[in-house]
Amino acid sequence: MPKLRIVTQEGLASEELSAYKAVSPADFKQLESLLPVLTGKHILHLSSSANGGGVAELLTSGCALERALGLRSQWAIIEDAMPFFVITKKIHNGLQGESLTLSPLEQKTYLNITPTLRADLETLLHKLQPDIIILHDPQPLPFIEIAKRFAPTLLRLHIDLSTPYQPMLDFLKPLIRQASTIIISSNNYRVAFGGYPPEHIAVIRPAIDPFTEKNRPLDKDIAEEILTKHNIDITRPFITQISRFDPWKDPLGAIEAYRFAKHSVPKLQLILAGFIEASDDPEALAWVDKTKAAVQNDPDVFIFSDLSQLKDNMSDSLFINALNTLTSCTLQMSRREGFGLTITEAMWKGRVVIARPSRGAELQIINGENGYISDTSETIAGHVIKTLADSKTAQAIGRAAQASVKENFFLPRYISHNCKVYQNFL
Ligand code: UDP
Repeated sequence: MPKLRIVTQEGLASEELSAYKAVSPADFKQLESLLPVLTGKHILHLSSSANGGGVAELLTSGCALERALGLRSQWAIIEDAMPFFVITKKIHNGLQGESLTLSPLEQKTYLNITPTLRADLETLLHKLQPDIIILHDPQPLPFIEIAKRFAPTLLRLHIDLSTPYQPMLDFLKPLIRQASTIIISSNNYRVAFGGYPPEHIAVIRPAIDPFTEKNRPLDKDIAEEILTKHNIDITRPFITQISRFDPWKDPLGAIEAYRFAKHSVPKLQLILAGFIEASDDPEALAWVDKTKAAVQNDPDVFIFSDLSQLKDNMSDSLFINALNTLTSCTLQMSRREGFGLTITEAMWKGRVVIARPSRGAELQIINGENGYISDTSETIAGHVIKTLADSKTAQAIGRAAQASVKENFFLPRYISHNCKVYQNFL
């Protein structure tokens, strides 16, 4: 039975708050200047999954920081709603440009959500009395009619909206128009909102939390031990793609690029990691199967999709940290990427990221300076080969990548920009 569940975790200890202050002093100062208006205000975030994906990542850290700053932020998710999520995944894919429409029955199911969820939301809103509600992505969007009766309701779209399929967008417009503000990740996504007052659109680029288990510095010896335990040969080079198994992420393209590179680097290994955690993603299992079929028993390709593959009850965050600490290159084969936190995370670890051109990658990578943007599997393989052959250039690119993340993509900046938007409604 679908339901709403509050997943907010505790705030942060004061020393953790000081660590953010130390790492991003200017953004933190901005944040502090907004606090007189924000303290005690109740922000309710609604999304569709507590794990596995960029939205969950941002909300876990973002909510904790907002609470530590004195906001009464809460985060609730829609749970156990699989038939509904099959429809919302279609909407997601349509908004990213796939020619998809919903049948009349799917439209009705989406718009009505379910009577239980609607009742859950009303109860929650009566109880919490939020000052602002933020709907993250299309899954909670049909809640907008109820939500806006209680508080200004903002729509935060995390996806790549540079080439939306117009009929899908037209179907959603009556809902989208009800949002007090739309928050998107790139100016390039404004094309989706022609006719919408420009001042009602805010552009906020996402960010990573440098202090999570995934992003904090990891001792090289420990990283080696972790990967060896999982049968990866750390004496040989390996490249990585860390992404959900999904057509947009193109794991098959990563295999193709690896095969081209392997002609020149026979000892090369490829790691594809995408642990299936996102309860709102109905496509993942089928894509794991497709990817396994494409590997054709190559012992040098490793697929990590199930948390039970991890030894010693290790978290996927720690495993990903170990991969990002040691990989020679990180691939990101998506052609659509709202932002692409996996790119940011690898850059923060000083890795050479080679990404296909996507709006998200272009927000982060300056080609040839702090990573590479490259289109075909052959040219991507070319960058892999060059990176492995020229460690001096690889190190320079890695250092530039790390510096650009520190400068632009840390959590306090993201929260400060969000708080500025909240301020307009308080
Ligand atoms: N991620 C994870 N485990 C995985 C694969 C991905 O925790 O097995 C995380 C990844 O580290 C990143 C987020 O999920 O923080 C993916 O965000 P991104 O913006 O790259 O893509 P999305 O999945 O939201 O499209």
